[in-house]
Amino acid sequence: MLMCRDLAVIASDYIDGQLPAFQKMSVKMHLLMCRDCRTFIGNLRASTELMVASSAGKTDEDLIRKIDERVREALANGKSTENGDPE
Ligand SMILES: [Zn+2]
Repeated sequence: MLMCRDLAVIASDYIDGQLPAFQKMSVKMHLLMCRDCRTFIGNLRASTELMVASSAGKTDEDLIRKIDERVREALANGKSTENGDPE
């Protein structure tokens, strides 16, 4: 069973399409159940696209900062709602 922290580790590979099929499957299963990780992946994908755009010379610093904040929020939420660790 994939946990939120596992997903965070492989998230960028997932977005890049670099994961083996079975791992991709467990990410998708997790995303179906976990809203925080859906948000996280969505934000990560947005910032990945932004990085591609910025390397093409189209950068909006305000937008970068907003996305950065959202990613951080999503990460914080993921931690607080994760129920795998009784802490
Ligand atoms: Zn999750």
